[in-house]
Amino acid sequence: MAMSTAQTLRRADLAGFSGYKSARSDTLQADIVLNANEFPWSNPADATGACRRYPDPQPGALLSAMAGLYGVAPEQILLGRGSDEGIELLLRTFCAPGRGTVLIAPPVFGMYAVCARLHGAQVVEVPLLDTRQGFKPDLDEMAALALRTGATVLFLCTPGNPTGEAISLEDISRVARQLHQHCLVVVDEAYGEFCETGSSVSMLPAHDNIVVLKTLSKAYALAGARVGAVIAHPTTIEAMRASQAPYPIPEPVVSLAMAAISNAAVAETRTRVEQVKRLRDALSQKLAVMPGVRRVYPSQANFVLVRLVAAEQVLSALRAAGILVRDMRAMPGLGDAIRITVGDESENARVLEVMKESMPLQRELA
Ligand SMILES: *Cc1c(COP(=O)(O)O)cnc(C)c1O
Repeated sequence: MAMSTAQTLRRADLAGFSGYKSARSDTLQADIVLNANEFPWSNPADATGACRRYPDPQPGALLSAMAGLYGVAPEQILLGRGSDEGIELLLRTFCAPGRGTVLIAPPVFGMYAVCARLHGAQVVEVPLLDTRQGFKPDLDEMAALALRTGATVLFLCTPGNPTGEAISLEDISRVARQLHQHCLVVVDEAYGEFCETGSSVSMLPAHDNIVVLKTLSKAYALAGARVGAVIAHPTTIEAMRASQAPYPIPEPVVSLAMAAISNAAVAETRTRVEQVKRLRDALSQKLAVMPGVRRVYPSQANFVLVRLVAAEQVLSALRAAGILVRDMRAMPGLGDAIRITVGDESENARVLEVMKESMPLQRELA
């Protein structure tokens, strides 16, 4: 059998390494379980006793439910503490510490570079192109540089944070084809639920080097619970599993996540997502015609990226009014930009009101 891209790219020093063998990896259906130094009675605060024992490292019921939600097989999923853990595990598994290389397209989500830095990996940047249609990754350049630098992980964020723009599936498939056996193409779909472009999950059968990151933090409104999933070829999942902590998903989180992706909750989530999309489009339109706004980027996510004539003035007015938006000015190419998360109707109205009042007068803009 030919090796998968993940088998080719796994750190050579981890060959044959299968990770920590926890007490929960023994599958014997025992009546008396005394192999993990757990306490014989529940904590008084733990009414059901669900937390007395170490949890299943990859809880079967949640794994099946998440597989169903994303339309894949359980062996294609790794559950973890948000997609942040997925990003870290990719580095740990496929980048030699202190020597590996990853590719990113800034301005982009900061965790890719942070994890790379902590791991001692090199970060090669191919900046997004700021075009009339919006920010676009220079994918051919990224693929060429990945090959030239020997990068093993290439991060794409779609819809992009902070740009809000989506990358087409054809473009992702082209990069994946160019990098087959050379580099994993990680598609971070944290905002995928708000986006019209389909999921890269549909391309997994054709590309063993595509890795999709999903999270319950955004559209599913569970940022505080820390639940994410890596979806990829089974050999990629197997290799990453060995790099993961023994018990990544706490028991109370398993029950909450199960309930959060029940049919009823998913239906409600879809309705809410449609509502957020309408609020986003309304917010974007109002911002686009506001004096003092240079540019509003088209967004497929639950936030909008806005360039301002007087960002400092607007940001301090918002702060004075008790409103927090994200200051993007430290990001490359975004020296005049803020990112506004779409709130509910009244929150958005208040943001618009304060921004309008804070804008410099027309004649000052001239
Ligand atoms: C918010 C966000 C995530 C989500 O991280 P979690 O660890 O799942 O909460 C991942 N990627 C991007 C680009 C994000 O903006």
